[in-house]
Formats: sequence, structure tokens, C-alpha cells
Amino acid sequence: MKKRDFLKTGAIFTAGALIAPLSSCSSSEESKDQSSNTPTDSIPPATTSAGEFTLPELPYAEDALEPYIDKMTMNIHHGKHHAGYVKKLNKALQGHPLAGKDLDSIVTSVSEDDADTGVRNNGGGHYNHSLFWKIMKPGGGEAPTGDLAKAIDEAFGSYDAFKEEFAKAAATRFGSGWAWLALDKDGKLFVSSTPNQDNPMMLKIVEKPGIPVLGIDVWEHAYYLHYQNRRKEYIDNFFKIINWEGVAENYTTAKGNA
Ligand code: MN
Repeated sequence: MKKRDFLKTGAIFTAGALIAPLSSCSSSEESKDQSSNTPTDSIPPATTSAGEFTLPELPYAEDALEPYIDKMTMNIHHGKHHAGYVKKLNKALQGHPLAGKDLDSIVTSVSEDDADTGVRNNGGGHYNHSLFWKIMKPGGGEAPTGDLAKAIDEAFGSYDAFKEEFAKAAATRFGSGWAWLALDKDGKLFVSSTPNQDNPMMLKIVEKPGIPVLGIDVWEHAYYLHYQNRRKEYIDNFFKIINWEGVAENYTTAKGNA
């Protein structure tokens, strides 16, 4: 299906469906209510009442994911890099047609036009990192269960086959970017990879659009202090700290809107 057709007919990509997977990052009051009613969603709303995006707090201590992600990396990654995306997003939105929109709308609306570059890069950066903190946890890494496990089996054949495909997408992403597990318009899970701070929600940009439920940051800033050039080791260790409950929550929400 062509991208244009997808945009017209993609049933799951209604406003509600796009807001739901990352309610903690939305600026709408409705999403804030959803967020506070979800016990496992510990990230506070990422915006102020004035509509400016703000840095969400980490749902755990900076050293909580050691030894797999060290405290210094987490401190800089969250406190400098993510904070920088938030700050630059607010700036890029000044006078931009997407000013005042919630983060999900912004991310799905950006195009390859030069006028969107700042909003695309920093809106993506804010969205991606907000998701990233949520899908990790100390002591995580147990295999997915329930509907998510079943959906992974259906899409990839087995959890191990999924893991292999996801790890390969992350390892082979040239330069900076992300690998994703996302839900397509037919409600099926797929693995993809995007450069820079793009993500599958960017309907006008990515080859295969979808709602991300799991993502790994393979920018060097995510691992270089601890792993240097050993990206594969970082990816292998990431599987030990995946918060599968958080991923299942993203999946259920996305699927519920299909
Ligand atoms: Mn990052």
C-alpha cells in the first residue's frame, strides 16, 4: 500500500489512537487524566499548563539500570540530551503551524520540508526518549506474556525470532537512530529502524508507519561511555532491562484503538 493510501485508510491512526500510546507526553488535559488513572504509568505529564513541553522525570533512579546502563550515561542522556530536545522543540514551535498541538499530533504531522526540520528532530527526540525511559526498568527482561507474547509469536514465529530481528535492526542502523517494535494499521507487530530522531509515527516520512510499543536508542550517546564501540553488547544487555509490562501496556492501548 502506498503511503498516501495508508494515510487515508489507516483505521488505527485516528487522533485517539495516536494519543493513547504515549499519553504521558501529550499536552491535552484528556491525556493527563488517562495518565493519572494508569497505575503503571509513573511518568508525569510532559507539558506545563502553558503548553510548553517539559522534561518528564525518570521513572527510576539514574543508577537503577546499572550495570547495563551506567549512572553517568543516564544522567547525561536524560538531563542533557533529552532536556535539550525539549528545549529546542519549544523553540522550534515558536511561529510554527504545529504550535499548540499535542506531541502525538506533532510527530504524525511533520514532513520532510525544511520548515519542519527543527520540529521533526526535536519533537521526535522528545517522543522517542519519553517512550524509551518507560520501556525499561530495573530487574526487567523477563519474556513478554499474554496477548503481547501471542502477537509476537504470530508476527515473528517466536520470541527468539523477534529478538533476533530487533537486535539486527538495532545493530545495522548506520550512524544514529533507533530500532522499533511497532503496530501497523492491520494491528500486526513489525520491526523497523529509523535514522536520527525519526520514528514510525511520522506517517509522512517513514517507509512503514506504525505505533511504536518498544524502541532502542542506538545513538552513541546512549551507550558510548560504558560500551565504547561495542554496540552489540549494549543491545544484548538492553534485553535484560526491558519493561515488558510497559511494552504490553503500549501494545494494549495501541491495539484497543485499532
Ligand atoms: Mn538518546
